[in-house]
Amino acid sequence: MASLSPLLRAYDQVILDLDGCVWIGEDAVPGSVDAIAALRDAGKRVAFATNNSWHSGEDHVAKLWGVGVQASLADVVTVGGAMQHLLAETRTTRSAFVIGTPAMHRHVTDAGLKVMNGTDLASRAEVVVLSGTDDVDYADLRDGALALGHGADFLATGRDPTLPMPDGHWPGTGAILAALETASGLTAEIVGKPSPRLFETALDRLGEGRTLVVGDRLDSDIAAAAAAGLDGALVLTGGAPSEPPPCGPQPVKVAADLAELVGAR
Ligand SMILES: [Mg+2]
Repeated sequence: MASLSPLLRAYDQVILDLDGCVWIGEDAVPGSVDAIAALRDAGKRVAFATNNSWHSGEDHVAKLWGVGVQASLADVVTVGGAMQHLLAETRTTRSAFVIGTPAMHRHVTDAGLKVMNGTDLASRAEVVVLSGTDDVDYADLRDGALALGHGADFLATGRDPTLPMPDGHWPGTGAILAALETASGLTAEIVGKPSPRLFETALDRLGEGRTLVVGDRLDSDIAAAAAAGLDGALVLTGGAPSEPPPCGPQPVKVAADLAELVGAR
């Protein structure tokens, strides 16, 4: 029987961030898979919530199995799914210009919107949707800025400046977003963390219980936890400073990694 740290024993369920917490790039953070197993062995419910919009929910489930974590689609709350839900349920916009991966294009299409990329009406789209992608060029930024200039709504998956990778920090969604915000002079509404939306969806699926959020970023994970009224713990595997600045939302605990936090070592 796995023994957990005193901190984790006080919670019924855990919402885990993925990039920088469970894995970095393609590789699991050492000890994280055993830590998740220890949580489940101790009867804790586990959900995953990610701002990563490069990959679909199915991709994330496959990657979890690939590193040795059993998971179903219901266990993974993605910002792409949240964007799709928001567009389908709360907006009347019919046309979109999308800066993002094919997975994000599908989410927008599945929400019932027509994607105007590559058409003469790209700059007349009613909403600009921006998410992380490694395929962005000047024409995308131009058409997005033109659509915003014509009054389009402005939605983005996140503001994370970087993506932790094995060789260092790659530009994150926030780095691409900064280009479009600079060009348009407008500020996007953020659908992912630090908005509480992903955690609210995760709580819907997990059910009632004392809940701990674990993530590697103060400005998205811990801030979103605070916005959702949840405790957040910070792991340092994504490169966050070990001493959080005194202003802003504070983690209930800072640990070197998930294994140390959970006590699964
Ligand atoms: Mg992260």
